[in-house]
Amino acid sequence: METKQIITERVLAPTQISLADYVINPYRGCGFGCLYCYAQKNKNIRKQKIKNSLGVKINAPSVLEKELKNIRPRKILLGSTVECFQEIEKKYRITKKILDILLKKQIPCLILTKSSLIKEYLEIISQNKENEIYFTLNLASQKIINILEPGSSSLNSRLDTIKEIKTKKIKLRIHMGPFIPYLSNLPEILSLLPKKIKTFNVELYHAKMGNFNALIKKVGENLPEKKEQLLDVYRSQKKYSGYAQKLKKSILQLKQKRNSNFFYLAPDFRQYYLPTANYNYKLK
Ligand code: SF4
Repeated sequence: METKQIITERVLAPTQISLADYVINPYRGCGFGCLYCYAQKNKNIRKQKIKNSLGVKINAPSVLEKELKNIRPRKILLGSTVECFQEIEKKYRITKKILDILLKKQIPCLILTKSSLIKEYLEIISQNKENEIYFTLNLASQKIINILEPGSSSLNSRLDTIKEIKTKKIKLRIHMGPFIPYLSNLPEILSLLPKKIKTFNVELYHAKMGNFNALIKKVGENLPEKKEQLLDVYRSQKKYSGYAQKLKKSILQLKQKRNSNFFYLAPDFRQYYLPTANYNYKLK
């Protein structure tokens, strides 16, 4: 993937996502290359035609410092359309500089990541008790990860990272999103995690957002036994709702068993992603 240094005019982007009032994406494009990536449907990204290039927002830290003279965010979501801790971060450390600024200003952030590189930053992140990490673990099999998330951190390194986040006492939710029917396995994912992890998001895969045709093709080539099952869930609104209900029921059972909190989101079948979707729908 070609890398370009880019000059950005703006870093803080207001958002309707219920989790924060601003988002920051330190890079443009993502080297993890997850097949289901929702960001590819993002209007701005499509407009910028950046599919095969990675933009490093080289001046983002200085722009952010200027913006924070006039804006006081309640909470910032780091990484809404990119992985902030992708490989390129090792060279440019843009995310690191942003975290330093947020810490200095005592502005809390919510970090969405599936990268074990975040381990290097846990010391900084732990210094603001309001900081929170949503760590993605939506697949419990390295074989499936290799197929669907070819550039991402391995299963074992993610499990190590999760333990380390817990050790540092940073607020943590395991983010099972997108939860892909018949590829994401809820009991298996839970069985990999230490019992003291008690908060989970389950966000059902949205076919309209998540590159469905390419996903089906890849699954057909590599896991043919799963293809028909997956296709069937997304055949109609009725089938999808039936699956979503079944999933909700099994979450409720596991919730009791594990004495944990689950936040569940089943996106609307017909519509594209709604930025106002509620990520705080806690199952009772
Ligand atoms: S890590 Fe996130 S932003 Fe990057 S490709 Fe995967 S889903 Fe998309």
